Amino acid sequence: MSTEFTLTPGANNLTITVIYDNNRNSEELEIAWGFSALITGNKKTILFDTGGDGSLLLSNMKKLAIEPNDIDAVVLSHIHADHTGGLADFLQKNLNVTVFMPESFPKKLKENIQQYGAKTVEVKESLMICENVYSTGQLGRLIKEQSLIIRTKAGLIIITGCAHPGIVKMLTAAKDLMKSLDPARDGNDVLLVMGGFHLEWATKGKIEKIISSFKQTGVRYIAPCHCAGEKARSLFEKHFGKNYINIGAGKEIAAANLQ
Ligand SMILES: [Zn+2]
Ligand SMILES: [Zn+2]
Repeated sequence: MSTEFTLTPGANNLTITVIYDNNRNSEELEIAWGFSALITGNKKTILFDTGGDGSLLLSNMKKLAIEPNDIDAVVLSHIHADHTGGLADFLQKNLNVTVFMPESFPKKLKENIQQYGAKTVEVKESLMICENVYSTGQLGRLIKEQSLIIRTKAGLIIITGCAHPGIVKMLTAAKDLMKSLDPARDGNDVLLVMGGFHLEWATKGKIEKIISSFKQTGVRYIAPCHCAGEKARSLFEKHFGKNYINIGAGKEIAAANLQ
């Protein structure tokens, strides 16, 4: 993996749009169980996860004026259908993409994607997707999952699908990776952690423990959605106050607005 860092000024124009989520943010968009978000402002336009239903993914994209052909790369966090279900329909709109998926994905699925004509990258260890954008590599034991790390001038943004390996573990892995690549910048502060945190069935005590380790890590903004669950969302809101971002399908986050 390249250890060279150049932080382009463009990295601060970064925008993340939630296309697919089971939480509502816009009256116009449909919601359903699953997650998908678009990341623009880097050298590659990235679709992170594809939600569970392809037609819903595409119709939400249309309502958000997102053109499937503008997307260069698809990053699939993990195998579950609520994250990969929309892929086939998306590929019918745009084959000219590279699909980054955990190496542990079934062979059949990899072949299917290749049959469509899309390029595939099997992710085992951490890797650079494009300048300022990284995968943590596949983490966890039972359900292998990768999360996305984006460097901005104001700190790291970490996006998770379901965080099955554990949200704190994924956050630590992301921070450690960036530190190993860039020891001089211990200022790899975490600007934002967003996505599914897999805390739907967690106890209040467990959630509060997670919140305190987020605080210790210095996470500035927090935007749990998908499988974070209502209990965790309200506890994060209570502890992060104005730095809690309420997200759902249709929410757009501009990194420049996070200080
Ligand atoms: Zn999952
Ligand atoms: Zn999920």
